[in-house]
Amino acid sequence: MSIAQRIADIHSDVAAACIEAGRKPHEVRVLGACKTKPVELIREALSAGQTLLAENRAQELRDKAPLLAAYDPAPEWHFIGRLQKNKVKYVVPWAQIVHTVDSFALAEEIARRTPGPIGVLIQVNAAHDPAKAGVSPNETLALCKQVEALDNITVRGLMTIPPMTEDPESCAPFFAEVTHLAQMGQAAGLQTDILSMGMSRDYRVAIREGSTLIRVGTAIFGSRD
Ligand SMILES: *Cc1c(COP(=O)(O)O)cnc(C)c1O
Repeated sequence: MSIAQRIADIHSDVAAACIEAGRKPHEVRVLGACKTKPVELIREALSAGQTLLAENRAQELRDKAPLLAAYDPAPEWHFIGRLQKNKVKYVVPWAQIVHTVDSFALAEEIARRTPGPIGVLIQVNAAHDPAKAGVSPNETLALCKQVEALDNITVRGLMTIPPMTEDPESCAPFFAEVTHLAQMGQAAGLQTDILSMGMSRDYRVAIREGSTLIRVGTAIFGSRD
């Protein structure tokens, strides 16, 4: 199946999932996670209209983004991987939104290095998994407020990666909790309108639970070696 066909399929499946959940299809956007995939394949995705793209390794973004910068239509890059402070410099020239901010120190480094205004999402460790990145749910809104006070950074919303499980349905409570946190944030005056939740295997559940941005790799670009 061509990339263009897969992209069309995903977008129609997302629309169906929205309608099933009583939501409007335009409320959910699809981010193409193209890690490990060659630039030629990404050009195909861009030509098919998939302009929202994401990398999860800083150096990979640094290396690939310049090769696509002049492409029409141009990509909008997001960064979705774990980010060490010493690699922020590779990411900020390219990423419009960094999904994985889970400490004030990381946000400060992003603010210091970014060449212009940048959006961030606060990553929530909804499952309280000590092995995983993300801030705990009860510290999330305080971190949002702290980060929001920095120059050049706007907190656009929240992101979460639930534990890997057999049954995507078991992730529902984690997605629901992050949606609830975002609603509390909005009530407190935060602009948390992006909810980055859901991947190839669980995006239908995430959409039902309130996701506005799903991160899809395999279902668009095929499996990774
Ligand atoms: C790779 C990646 C995805 C996409 O995963 P698939 O299962 O291939 O859809 C989503 N989120 C993050 C953080 C990723 O690194």
